[in-house]
Amino acid sequence: MESKERNPDWTRDELILALDLYIRFKGNPPGKTSQEDLMLSQLLNRLGSEFGKPGSKYRNANGVYMKCMNFRRFDPAYKNSGKVGLQRGNKLEEEVWRTFADKPELLREVASAISDHVLNDDSNLAPVDDDEETVEADEGRLLTRVHRHRERSKKIVNKKKDAILKKTGRLACEACDFDFQAAYGARGSGFIEAHHTKPVHTLRPGDKTKLEDLALLCANCHRMVHVRQPWLTVETLRATIKAASEPAAKDTSKGDLAPSPQSAFT
Ligand SMILES: [Zn+2]
Ligand SMILES: [Zn+2]
Repeated sequence: MESKERNPDWTRDELILALDLYIRFKGNPPGKTSQEDLMLSQLLNRLGSEFGKPGSKYRNANGVYMKCMNFRRFDPAYKNSGKVGLQRGNKLEEEVWRTFADKPELLREVASAISDHVLNDDSNLAPVDDDEETVEADEGRLLTRVHRHRERSKKIVNKKKDAILKKTGRLACEACDFDFQAAYGARGSGFIEAHHTKPVHTLRPGDKTKLEDLALLCANCHRMVHVRQPWLTVETLRATIKAASEPAAKDTSKGDLAPSPQSAFT
């Protein structure tokens, strides 16, 4: 009997790495015995082990090759030639294609950020508790985890709070100006969250977070940044709050609730 071991669906991170290979080879991905497929297979196995133990058949070179070929069904160059790509595949593939296929340079940066973190065995990658309200960044769950980890680093966050307190005398949300101490008295004193503002694909292993990389946000605003894709920049969040509070905008909006969110990397 064949083993019933079934591989989990490809994650966004994995699809990004496969699409990067596909695009680098201009829609003609190297064959299943190629060095490239083998190396990507190894990288995916290390990435997979960051999130649990992958089985022995996890993302072998053949699987890598098949996944790359899956992208052909979205590729206009291929479709225009009258051929039809593999029809199997999931919705996430299409999403990753739509996000990155026409931005090869960004794709390259995201893919290399992911592989850098995997290959460097970044000890920063100790899992942070999963937050159900945080939607994974366009750039995948590994870089999402790096983001969460860095903005929760007590030492730098406390430094940031001290600096702002010294400068302004209070700890107010940079998007909506909410001040926990003003609202909750002594219980709210010193409380505010920090958000790492750098686009996640620019985060590299071993980087030192600088004070200016962090923005102080109230818990609501921080949630709103991360609740949907793409994540919002602090500037866009501010504009969103402003637009939502203007009665005129509300009356004429007819279901068009807020200005379209702007990705951190557009
Ligand atoms: Zn706020
Ligand atoms: Zn954040």
